Amino acid sequence: MKVRFLIYSLLSVFLSILLLSGTAFAKQKEVSLKVGWLPRKIEQGDICVVNVLVAKGIRSLTGEFQGKDLSFYKVKKGRLFRTLIGIDMETDPGTYQLVISAKSRSGKTVKGRYRIRIKERDFGEQRITLPEEMVELDEDTLKQVEDEEKKVKEIWTKERSDRLWRGKFIKPLDGEVISPFGVRRILNDLPRNRHSGVDLEAGMGEEIRSSNAGIVVLVDELYFSGKSVVVDHGRGLYTMYFHLSRIDVEEGQRVKKGEVLGLAGSTGRSTGPHLHWGVRLHDARVDPFSLLKLK
Ligand SMILES: [Zn+2]
Repeated sequence: MKVRFLIYSLLSVFLSILLLSGTAFAKQKEVSLKVGWLPRKIEQGDICVVNVLVAKGIRSLTGEFQGKDLSFYKVKKGRLFRTLIGIDMETDPGTYQLVISAKSRSGKTVKGRYRIRIKERDFGEQRITLPEEMVELDEDTLKQVEDEEKKVKEIWTKERSDRLWRGKFIKPLDGEVISPFGVRRILNDLPRNRHSGVDLEAGMGEEIRSSNAGIVVLVDELYFSGKSVVVDHGRGLYTMYFHLSRIDVEEGQRVKKGEVLGLAGSTGRSTGPHLHWGVRLHDARVDPFSLLKLK
């Protein structure tokens, strides 16, 4: 602890000196911002936590990754800033540039560029057999599904700037994974979309709990996902709870971590009681289990 404090102190003294001379600061990119991210090896579907330790004189911090603006929040009272990046499950593997800009009180800007490598993840595949009428949709149903998708998509565009979650996220119930995140679904021998959430085993009527604090932004009964709840945790982070038999919350309601949202069921396109648990982060479909790793 002492050693870390000493390093931080030395670093801030060093950065303060550099700040006094703008040119030196700009040239010394590697020390002007201390940037780190977790996990070190990033795969498709991961949530990447970016930490930035800034010098004393830094007034604001901005960033960009994959064409999206990043906004940072302060961790505790220190000079440590953080942002979460969602790596969509279908992101092309490769190296992407992370750009972070810091503005000092005197108006000087320093930019750091970092290379983030996204590795391919082997999600595997799952064969499912369903009655044909559940797979082949008639025109009216297709229209209904499209309208529903539009409505849900709208939600991801309305990001709140405040952070509502606190501490660790929890699993909505204890059940085992019966269909993992990202698997390629092969429905009646035809390849379909990847699974954008994780299916957890649930008994009919089992209580489903909110993964963290937030605001309920969707309560609806949808064709595929049945009775559905979406909770907005702020800063572009949402959790989804599908196929419920009963919903106990309403849109606009604030919920606490662990608060019961409803009961497990098998509504929508489902062959038995289970919970489909999904996570969106800045419109990226990410693995709910990477949410559980956040501190
Ligand atoms: Zn599912």
